[in-house]
Amino acid sequence: MRALAVEDDPRISGDLRRALSAAGFRVETCADGQEAWFLGDTEDYDLIVLDLGLPRLDGLSVLKRWRANGRAMPVLVLTARGTWQERVEGIEAGADDYLPKPFRMEELVARARALVRRAAGGGSARVEVARLAIDTNRMAVWVAGVPVDVTALEYRLLSYLVHHRDRVVAPVELLEHLYGDDEARETNALEAVIARLRRKLGPGVIATRRGFGYHLDAAP
Ligand code: CA
Repeated sequence: MRALAVEDDPRISGDLRRALSAAGFRVETCADGQEAWFLGDTEDYDLIVLDLGLPRLDGLSVLKRWRANGRAMPVLVLTARGTWQERVEGIEAGADDYLPKPFRMEELVARARALVRRAAGGGSARVEVARLAIDTNRMAVWVAGVPVDVTALEYRLLSYLVHHRDRVVAPVELLEHLYGDDEARETNALEAVIARLRRKLGPGVIATRRGFGYHLDAAP
């Protein structure tokens, strides 16, 4: 899962990065509204945490521009004062949820996970696709009811496939969500992770559609 944290306070931004990374997100940060607008308009995120008070372009305007342009990613808004006017404005501008400052990182992570689950069409922390099950709160994986030990990177890959289970995911898209733009993108590295996961999960979980990419095998 790829997340963007838009926050101009470096301390909160660092906390957001750490908390969301620990929760299994691959996190990018951004400290001004203009840059945030550009990133949200041109990149695909599974979640955006958006502070409202930002330099260059305020958060509400950023959110309105995204929605006006048809960008539908889940957005969790951080309001400075927690006044009801700000909450109403945020929700009318297209926020999916909001959290008044100061907040506990545990609550932010719980709400972030709930938003990603809701966007994927499921309300429960446990998501099942045929023989595979993942728990997005505990970052745990089972195949046919048997727990499987996976690394954080392997979990992120599986979680992405689960949340996009209705389609084939191209290798370049998986790489982007796993490693981001700022790290080397190596198709070989992705193939190595897939091969490792297949050894752990057994056959018939991750399927390859030759020339297109990967998908979860939905056959029970
Ligand atoms: Ca701010």
